[in-house]
Amino acid sequence: AHLDRITAVDGRIKAFLHVDAETALAQARAVDERRAAGERLGPLAGVPIAHKDVFTTADMPTTAGSKILEGWRPPYDATITRRLREAGLVIIGKTNMDEFAMGSSTENSAFGPTRNPWNLDRIPGGSSGGSSAAVAAYEAPLATGTDTGGSIRQPAAVTGIVGTKPTYGGSSRYGLIAFASSLDTPGPFARTVLDAALLHEAFSGHDPMDSTSIDHPVPPVVEAARRADVAGLRIGVVRELGGEGFQPGVQARFNEAVELLESLGAKVTEVSCPHFTYALPAYYLIAPSECSSNLARFDAMRYGLRIGDDGARSAEEVMALTRAEGFGPEVKRRIMLGTYALSSGYYDAYYGKAQQVRTLIIRDFEAAFEQVDVLVSPTTPTTAFPIGDRVDDPMAMYLADLATIPSNLAGNAAISVPCGLAEEDGLPVGLQVMAPTLADDRVYRVGAAVE
Ligand code: GLN
Repeated sequence: AHLDRITAVDGRIKAFLHVDAETALAQARAVDERRAAGERLGPLAGVPIAHKDVFTTADMPTTAGSKILEGWRPPYDATITRRLREAGLVIIGKTNMDEFAMGSSTENSAFGPTRNPWNLDRIPGGSSGGSSAAVAAYEAPLATGTDTGGSIRQPAAVTGIVGTKPTYGGSSRYGLIAFASSLDTPGPFARTVLDAALLHEAFSGHDPMDSTSIDHPVPPVVEAARRADVAGLRIGVVRELGGEGFQPGVQARFNEAVELLESLGAKVTEVSCPHFTYALPAYYLIAPSECSSNLARFDAMRYGLRIGDDGARSAEEVMALTRAEGFGPEVKRRIMLGTYALSSGYYDAYYGKAQQVRTLIIRDFEAAFEQVDVLVSPTTPTTAFPIGDRVDDPMAMYLADLATIPSNLAGNAAISVPCGLAEEDGLPVGLQVMAPTLADDRVYRVGAAVE
């Protein structure tokens, strides 16, 4: 049914970069046979899933939305990919994304934009916009994403679905094409909070192949999503993430969600996190710095595209020609920013300062979580904006992640759940719930109560 749905709508939505119907059907039949043979399978066995094209898959191409990886076949599965297969999930295809996960609209994909199923002239969010659109358009019930600065929560918010950024280190980065390694976090997309929790549980947990993986049991996210009870829970509304700069319809739906939580027995207070205002500038030094280093591996020698390989040129020239042709403008902008910020003489002023700000943001969270159990805010300042609107204005594009970035810098858990439609444009609004490191279950508890 999902493959039929893809055939019917994906020509317009363009959520997928690659669909492998035959393999998917064969895998689904294999699950059926195991079940028929009496094998006890997990709750997601046989369920189709759309997989962000940033995770390596040994049986499908992996592009990270970039021309530089066109035609590359990874020799191995990412840990997340492997765990999806072990859970019996059927990977129906790979989804579109901003090149190397840099963006908030999927317009930075080298393969063209994905469209928002609610309104085809609007963006589906990014960078995991193919995944959010696939789930919102009923092309898949579940999808994977990665969240470095908001790339799961923001697309979930603007397409009216659920998306979680787990605690950093709670989900493996092995086989995830790196953008900013200290921030990159794989997580689930689904149409319900419980579905997201089931997927979260299925692919999370310690991975010895990832040096920053946390060796700790997966928080009880499924139990929390089933419990859906907030009586007595202390909820803090972040003063700095709302009001001015937030679309009235977004703020209105958020305020109603908070009132709903209060009526369900939560104790709501306002909490100030004064350094959150500096999260965006700190992120745009840290993330490009890490990306400039991570993307050095695309050197025309090891992967995908190679230009000018006629034997007469130097290795440097082949690398330069390939990188000039293979990377899009946003990726080049980030490499230049990051290289500059890390260069000697500027390192202390930019990268070093940004790391200090990161510490202040972590302290804001620590102080807040002494007063409350979770923090809430609107996920994004606006609903889905029109395709083309911000693509030439990087600063406007970056603002989409104003409210999501603090959790990435601190490495704690956060979710976005739908909380209604803005009256101005009839488009979905997301409620963000943030919890301390390894308290991922709390964001599901609150999310499920609002749902
Ligand atoms: N939009 C942010 C950026 O462009 C976040 C992207 C992400 O989370 N991968 O960096």
